[in-house]
Parts: sequence; C-alpha cells; structure tokens
Amino acid sequence: MVRLRHGLASDELDPLLALCRDLGYGTRFLDEGRRLLELSGVGDRTHRTRLEDHPDVVEVVDAGDSLELHTRGAGRPDTVVQIGEASFGGGNVAIAAGPCSVEDYERLLHLARGVQDCGVSVLRGGAYKPRTSPYSFQGLGVVGLEMLAAVRAETGIAVVTEVIDPRDVERVTEVADCLQIGTRSATNFPLLTEVGRAGKPVLLKRGFGATVREFLLSAEYVLNAGNEEVVLCERGVRSFDSTTRNILDVGAVAHLASETHLPVIVDPSHAAGRRDLVRPLARAGLVAGADGLIIEVHDDPATALSDGEQAISLEDLRELVLDAEGLVSLDGRQLSLHSGSSSPHASNAKESIQ
Ligand code: PEP
Ligand code: MN
Repeated sequence: MVRLRHGLASDELDPLLALCRDLGYGTRFLDEGRRLLELSGVGDRTHRTRLEDHPDVVEVVDAGDSLELHTRGAGRPDTVVQIGEASFGGGNVAIAAGPCSVEDYERLLHLARGVQDCGVSVLRGGAYKPRTSPYSFQGLGVVGLEMLAAVRAETGIAVVTEVIDPRDVERVTEVADCLQIGTRSATNFPLLTEVGRAGKPVLLKRGFGATVREFLLSAEYVLNAGNEEVVLCERGVRSFDSTTRNILDVGAVAHLASETHLPVIVDPSHAAGRRDLVRPLARAGLVAGADGLIIEVHDDPATALSDGEQAISLEDLRELVLDAEGLVSLDGRQLSLHSGSSSPHASNAKESIQ
C-alpha cells in the first residue's frame, strides 16, 4: 500500500500507474482523494525501493510481503547467529564484552580471561578504530589483530573486531569470528558488500543518524551479498541532548525484534557514554527484546586509549551477566554462557533482579 503526494491531477497519476502495471501489479485506490494506492500481485525484492524513489510516492505504508531479505515473512524462523560458543537469536541471548580498543597483549589477555570468568564467551576489541578526529588514537592495526589472534589461541575465546576499510576485510576475517561494522561505516556500501562475501558473521551497528529503515537497508547490502549471518546492533542515535552520549532507541529494538528474522543486540556502552548507565540500559535493551549485548570493559579506564569513561569493570560485568540471566529467563529465553566460568549463575540470578 502506497501513499501518494497530495494534489496530483488524474493525468499526473498515469506515469506511476503505468510503472505499477509494468512491475506486474493490479492497482486500486482506497480513498476518494486518490492518495492511498493498493497494489496486488507478486512482488520482487527491488520493488519497494523503486516505488519509494518515485517522486509522486510519499511512502510505502505497508510493504506486505516485500521479499526483502531481512523481513520475517510468513512462518520464517528466527536466524540464529553462532559466534564461538555464543548463540544470538531464536530464544538465545548472548553477550560480547571487552575493551573499546586493543591496547597491549597483557591487558587483552587479562580482560579476555576476566570476561570468560564472568560467563562471556565473545571478546570485543578494535584493532582498527574509526575515530572522529584524525589526531585520536587510530588503533594498533595489524599489530592489534595479531594480539587478538594470540589471545584467541591462548583462551579459546571468540573475537569480534571492527573492519573499516574494504581492503582489510580479508586480513580481519582471518582473525575474527565476527566482523564488526561501526556506526560511522553503516553507509559504506562497498564495505558492506565486501563483508557480505567474507563468510563470517557480521555485527552491524546502526548509523548514528540512520532511520530504522536505513539501518535495515544497510543490513540488506550484507544479506544481498550472500551472507545471512547478520546481527543488528542498536547503539543509540544522536539527539539534541548531551546528558547521554546518544539516545538508546529501545522502541527500535522492540520493532526490529518483530520486523526481522535477524538477531538484534544492544550496545549500552556507546548509547550511554557513561559507565553508571550501562547496566540500566543493558537491562532495558533485554526487556525490549534484544537477543544480546555488547559491552565495553576495562581494568584501568583512566588510562584507556579510547572510551574509558563508558567502560565498566569486570566486577560490574559479572553483575550485568547475572541481571541478563535473570531477565531473559522471565520470557523463556536462555543466556549462552561460557562453559568454564566461575560465576554463580542461575541459582542467584533471580535474587539479583529483585
Ligand atoms: C566501538 O564499538 O568501539 C565503536 C566505535 O562503536 P560505534 O561504531 O557504535 O561508535
Ligand atoms: Mn568504543
């Protein structure tokens, strides 16, 4: 169902109606003002954007079964994305945690062991950092990737790390269990296509100024390149208010959970920008239906080379994992936990959320 521009004369409608017929649709106006046009017929994945791009179309109100690859479609099961031991989606909830940036080997190893001990089986950490200023720490690059590879080999932890340049996709893919596309790269379409061909799961952040529709179309680039393993990540959008770094869009999380078969996770660290709000936002995300979390953790935030102010401690992560376990059990879901953790799970998770 398509909503048309106001005040179109009958003959002005002809080109659009001809286009609809060419695309194979029957057409019927639903109102006297001829602004609501119903199309019937078998669609094609390219049709929705084709209509949205037409100058006389204000919006596609109801895409029906639009056949875009992210749509849930009748009876389609949730996509479950497996990253190491962690399952995201289809009733499985999982957590990734680690520093914003890879800084040095000893620290990375310590944090990897620490997050595992909290029950987390996916380590996050950027070797390539997309910084707003060219004068900020840009990440250790290849050296950082080597550290991630060494820590992965040493601990068995799965690794999610960002790639910002299509030319680096191959080398990052050799190390990573999951490729992260950051908010600043969400409309780098050649990069999205390249990671779509890489054969590894992709953690796709929402652009900080992207509508939900634009976010889904970014995902569509990865899916259309042949990669079904996409984890959508809501990390907050920019707003007028600087109380928090971004606004966590929990409404979008709830919407995406029903709109798409892909797993949706929340990044409360970049949404809040302050460590004291990471835990409540993580809880809010899970209650809204998120299939997981990605959390920044540091053992000495004062010296962190990026995002120290939003990094929580390993002790706080332990509490957050317990929260998550309790909350997801309330709606019959299950938290994927690292098998060798020493956390007192399950037994006291319920107490921790009361
Ligand atoms: C990050 O995960 O450290 C990061 C840069 O996130 P975002 O792209 O959401 O800002
Ligand atoms: Mn960060």
